[in-house]
Amino acid sequence: MKTKVIDFSKFSSIRIGPTVEVALIENDIVPEGYTVVGSANNLLVGPNPPPLMMLSKQYDFIRIKNGQLHIGAATPGGRVVSFCKKNDIANFEYFSKLPGTIGGMIKMNAGLKEFEIFNYLIAVRTQTGWIPKEQLEYGYRKTSINEVVFEAVFELHQGFSSERLEMFAKMRSNQPNDPSAGSCFKNPPGDYAGRLIEAVGLKGVRRGNMAFSEVHANFLVNYGGGTYEDALSLINEVQQKIFETFGISLQCEVVILGDTIVTIK
Ligand SMILES: Cc1cc2nc3c(=O)[nH]c(=O)nc-3n(C[C@H](O)[C@H](O)[C@H](O)COP(=O)(O)OP(=O)(O)OC[C@H]3O[C@@H](n4cnc5c(N)ncnc54)[C@H](O)[C@@H]3O)c2cc1C
Repeated sequence: MKTKVIDFSKFSSIRIGPTVEVALIENDIVPEGYTVVGSANNLLVGPNPPPLMMLSKQYDFIRIKNGQLHIGAATPGGRVVSFCKKNDIANFEYFSKLPGTIGGMIKMNAGLKEFEIFNYLIAVRTQTGWIPKEQLEYGYRKTSINEVVFEAVFELHQGFSSERLEMFAKMRSNQPNDPSAGSCFKNPPGDYAGRLIEAVGLKGVRRGNMAFSEVHANFLVNYGGGTYEDALSLINEVQQKIFETFGISLQCEVVILGDTIVTIK
């Protein structure tokens, strides 16, 4: 099996993690006991992660077939936006500036407000074969998918909207530019994780070079050379304080690959 050496301190959007050999998936052959990685925009990788794998370039494609849009799971969302703009296709504008591959986006049911990748999804292809959306469970930033997604097929509608593109860009104007993995916690029902973090006075809390951003409280940011231990310790501190204050258990949106227990300093 081919492998690729990945330095997660450069590859991941939060700029944390070790340099490890990652198995490459080709011809739908998936090694057992490995965890799949997309483009690591939603990952916090510890010093001792489980064995990792990623899709090869074979899975980076966009095709129109029988009036539907087929997209390989290794395709970056940004490329889908460019394709849709060129071919006047609607409903994928929010992928712009939502960093990730189609596989990672489907697993996370990624989206922005009411725009979610499952909205126009028809089916995904895994080792089981084609699975229609109706046979999958999905909700806010979660799905029942526990296999590697190889490709997906979406409804095709005409009408790319530059206005929507602009609207989505504006919706991101309150996000920090520092390296992060996007929103650290999921919003609890009827509330916002960012609001709760502010309410317990932890907006801007810093440990080493990691912090909950001054710009948006729910973004765990790396000011340069921040460590996994500091990141986890901040996550635990916020979860504990919010539970003590409001009785709410904040769930991580960021996927942690490594030990999750770190003592708060
Ligand atoms: C600045 C910034 C802004 C962001 N804004 C948003 C936003 O608005 N909305 C939003 O939803 N997210 C947002 N995110 C988070 C991130 O963009 C999404 O979660 C995206 O789906 C991650 O895709 P990825 O390919 O990087 O997946 P990874 O981070 O590599 O992996 C995420 C999860 O998907 C699984 N996975 C990856 N590939 C596959 C595959 N082929 N098959 C099955 N499982 C797979 C992994 O095992 C892991 O559990 C943001 C992140 C950043 C850094």
